[in-house]
Amino acid sequence: MSPTILVTGGAGFIGSHTCVALAAAGYAPLVLDNFCNSDVRVFERLARIIGSAPRFVEGDVRDRALLDRLFAEQPIAGVIHFAGLKSVGESVSDPLAYYDNNVHGSLVLAAAMEAASVHTLIFSSSATVYGATDRLPIGEGEALQPTNPYGHSKQMVEQALADLQRSDPRWRITLLRYFNPVGAHESGLIGEHPHGKPNNLMPYVSQVAVGLRDKLAVHGGDYPTPDGTGVRDYVHVMDLAEGHVAALRHAERQAGLATLNLGTGRGTSVLEVVKAFERASGRSIAYEIGPRRTGDVPSNWADPALAQATLGWRAQRGIDQMCADSWRWQQANPRGYES
Ligand code: NAD
Ligand code: UDP
Repeated sequence: MSPTILVTGGAGFIGSHTCVALAAAGYAPLVLDNFCNSDVRVFERLARIIGSAPRFVEGDVRDRALLDRLFAEQPIAGVIHFAGLKSVGESVSDPLAYYDNNVHGSLVLAAAMEAASVHTLIFSSSATVYGATDRLPIGEGEALQPTNPYGHSKQMVEQALADLQRSDPRWRITLLRYFNPVGAHESGLIGEHPHGKPNNLMPYVSQVAVGLRDKLAVHGGDYPTPDGTGVRDYVHVMDLAEGHVAALRHAERQAGLATLNLGTGRGTSVLEVVKAFERASGRSIAYEIGPRRTGDVPSNWADPALAQATLGWRAQRGIDQMCADSWRWQQANPRGYES
């Protein structure tokens, strides 16, 4: 029988792609999601990719009674914890929502796991925990100095889980610090569909390409980078998804705490993303260079060597494939799962 993996937030962008990778690797994902930032119709799409829809439960990760019931109803081999809020700007205006959902939610989950003697946990952290640094590439030993409540909430959960693992060596905990997840499953059936105006570059560029928005505002053209625009480490969401499977396999072999960057180790500028998307879509992307966005760093990219050494995982897909897959999803689903 396939081992069941509880996937909190499994209806969301990274979670839904991870369900595909889990099923391909012989695991049975069981999704817990409150759909605050996702759409239940993702399961019809997943059924078309995987062959059958993953089981899902609508509910909140902060609901301890629900978690206790889920752990009692079936053997659960491990948990991948994606559920949380992820907008930096919103976290500044509503910090309590972020501490409640991200920190409190993770603590309730860890306590329910402890009570059920389930000790394998993979946690979605973020490169945001590093804040601004001049040292590139960024290694896991870099000082943590997040600059906003979202980043603080991730750092707090990392700290709590590290302390938990230290208190009981049965725990197998992996903290994955994602760089910039983009792209979509190659089928074009699942992908990212932010509500309202996208904050992130790739969804904005794809909405310009498909004609939903007039032009991209490039946030700053005077950074100390080769073309003056910001440089980031974009990583294909299917590479990330496969990284979670590799992390599960590693946890099966070895107890302990692992803290790992998931990135490609390559930086790509805003204008390079625009050009790559033009190649992928055959459309021209209108843009205008404007002022810098408050809080942005000029450049950041990962040192992914530790993830490779520990998990045997390496990102396989480059920026052209990220754009081609984003475009396939965007073109076929201009209004996300409503399309
Ligand atoms: P997403 O919003 O698409 O997915 C999160 C899912 O969790 C959604 O389906 C949402 O409905 C659900 N959810 C939120 N709060 C919940 C709760 N209390 N109970 C149950 N379900 C809840 O986001 P994503 O991009 O897939 O990100 C997944 C995780 O990865 C998040 O923890 C995020 O902070 C982290 N992360 C994302 C990025 C990124 O750029 N996408 C980068 C670094 C880290
Ligand atoms: N960016 C931009 N215009 C946008 C959105 C983003 O120029 O509409 C730039 C941003 O300044 C950064 C890069 O694109 O240099 C990636 O931004 P994103 O918000 O996607 O990721 P993050 O800043 O969190 O790394």
